Amino acid sequence: MKAVQYRRVGHAPEVVEVPMPEPGPGQVLLKVTAAGLCHSDLAVMGWPEQQFPYALPMTLGHEGVGTVAAVGAGVTAVVEGEAVAVYGPWGCGRCRKCAEGKENCCAYAAGLGIAPPGLGRPGALAEYMLVDSARHLVALDGVDPVQAAPLTDAGLTPYHAIRRSLPKLLPGSTAVVIGVGGLGHLAVQLLRALTPARVVALDVGKEKLELAREVGAHEVLLSDGEAAARLRELTGGTGAEVVLDFVGAEATLAVAAASVAVEGDVIVVGLGGGTLPVGFGGGLPFEVSAAFPYWGSRTELMDVLELARQGVVSAHVETFTLEQAPEAYARLHAGEIGGRAVVLPQGPVSPSGV
Ligand code: NAD
Ligand code: ZN
Repeated sequence: MKAVQYRRVGHAPEVVEVPMPEPGPGQVLLKVTAAGLCHSDLAVMGWPEQQFPYALPMTLGHEGVGTVAAVGAGVTAVVEGEAVAVYGPWGCGRCRKCAEGKENCCAYAAGLGIAPPGLGRPGALAEYMLVDSARHLVALDGVDPVQAAPLTDAGLTPYHAIRRSLPKLLPGSTAVVIGVGGLGHLAVQLLRALTPARVVALDVGKEKLELAREVGAHEVLLSDGEAAARLRELTGGTGAEVVLDFVGAEATLAVAAASVAVEGDVIVVGLGGGTLPVGFGGGLPFEVSAAFPYWGSRTELMDVLELARQGVVSAHVETFTLEQAPEAYARLHAGEIGGRAVVLPQGPVSPSGV
């Protein structure tokens, strides 16, 4: 079968022929219908050889949706032909966090050699993929698979990030979204669906700001040297209750720090490598909380799919064939993708997901 692999550190991913995987006991083989491309894949492909944590070659793709093609011994929870989304942050499955569905917070996974598909294990950018347990599968139940793929990360991660700040997003509050890409354009929609907050979106691209408006941002601002001052002005000098940074670079974190309100939240989602000085004398207003959430829980993925089912959120997607995946990554790197790039390994799919 064909797969998109990162094979050599510092080199572009390649489309290659790999052996067809077979499901072992407890595993599920999926025929992949759609796989989203995340900016985190670019971050991973930017890591230097000495610090690279995964074995190569590695099949990429941690946003996967497919139909059950075969099940290993003992699997009864899913049946062949069922359309499912893959919950990516695999945990040990036994600890308290995993029991709560928060496998993204499992403290044992790494030590046990458990890693997410596409981030250590063979991922979704292939014709077929192995899923370690039926526990990691959520039924699509009518959600368009092309929509569902980005929702497993680009939807789930902002949903999880926003949920922790919901008590602060009251009527009259302001939420700032920095970076309106795959995650950010869904964050704007989620904020509108879940809160009465005024949503202000920042990006460096004019088309990205147009998309932000289209999906519900009340205000849009170019992310430049004036952004922090304009945000202060927009909030009558008090700042924003919640700032979600989907870039995480030094410059955007400085904007976040300069525009957050007293008692506000700075939520760093982007892996841009910047740091935020927390503590007295660090420049943040009093009582600010900072967090750097990782992905989301299994039940939160169910929530996000339900929001899609209700038509409340929908990913803006551009689709590609498996062969076009390396070119799609190059375009993502150049900032040329509006919303999410989604690869369709089997070609165009019908909204029923089969
Ligand atoms: P993306 O490339 O689709 O979107 C990034 C957006 O940020 C683009 O629209 C780009 O124009 C904009 N941008 C770049 N520089 C900017 C600046 N200085 N100011 C404002 N906007 C700027 O990326 P994505 O897939 O949405 O991922 C966003 C970030 O979130 C990445 O860093 C990714 O690695 C990270 N991520 C984190 C988690 C997590 O669990 N914490 C999960 C998924 C992705
Ligand atoms: Zn991701």
